[in-house]
Amino acid sequence: MLYIGSHVGFNKNSQLLGSVLEASSYGANTFMFYTGAPQNTMRYPIDDKLTNEAIKKMKEVGINFSKVVVHAPYIINLCNEANFDFSVSFLKGEVERVSKLGVKYMVLHPGSHVGLGIDKGIENIISGLNLVLDGKTDVTILLETMAGKGSEVGSTMDEIKRIIDGVKDKSHIGVCLDTCHLNDAGYSMEDFDKYLDEFDKIIGIDKIGCIHINDSKNILSSHKDRHENIGFGTLGFDNLIKIIYNERLGEIPRILETPYVDREYPPYKYEIEMIRNKKFDENLINKIKQS
Ligand code: FE
Ligand code: FE
Ligand code: ZN
Repeated sequence: MLYIGSHVGFNKNSQLLGSVLEASSYGANTFMFYTGAPQNTMRYPIDDKLTNEAIKKMKEVGINFSKVVVHAPYIINLCNEANFDFSVSFLKGEVERVSKLGVKYMVLHPGSHVGLGIDKGIENIISGLNLVLDGKTDVTILLETMAGKGSEVGSTMDEIKRIIDGVKDKSHIGVCLDTCHLNDAGYSMEDFDKYLDEFDKIIGIDKIGCIHINDSKNILSSHKDRHENIGFGTLGFDNLIKIIYNERLGEIPRILETPYVDREYPPYKYEIEMIRNKKFDENLINKIKQS
């Protein structure tokens, strides 16, 4: 079964129930959310009543809760020594919130070393992850493959492998691929099977827990990280369809993080429909604007 969804909102008043309703309005059978604003640390207590209603709703609308993922806020930077204690304690809190919600996977940007160098950066990420993954949590952290913008760590398979090698609790660490980031980092998405062959040799395909499906505004190796709507970027519709339907990825969630059209209209309902039809609609953007 294909599990496809997008990132959706999560707010104080409707919490997980609101996220489910939004995902369902896109025709999704999974989704990803931040437990609050991605760029700040304001977090509200989880309301179990809303969580239970959300779980009931998911069954009704055909969303598979076991395929739902959370994205950790990107202000967490385990590389940065000045913010290390804060990042660790905030990430710990996030893992607890995610666990309380009943979600099993959390996507995390490895971090940016901001001048410390890649080796020190990786060392710090490993220390932080080992403090968070203390053997008691039931949440698996998925390290996202990054575009290599600025001093981002995790834009090569080797860096991701070195982090995983240092993590003690191997059963709770995995990887989240991001097609835009992979392209921008220099991995061609024109032959995804070749990428998977290499990944399997170095890290192991079984470590992949999620894939972000995005087109890219930029060319291979640009190190930019600017997402584009499906079929409207340099990866193109056919390559993305081959990736989405690649059977070697099994039933891991495919999550769209493509931009809103004119910063206003969410494209997900239309992109999901187009993906299910496997047929590119060059008029999609206009269609979304008129909706
Ligand atoms: Fe991300
Ligand atoms: Fe992503
Ligand atoms: Zn990105």
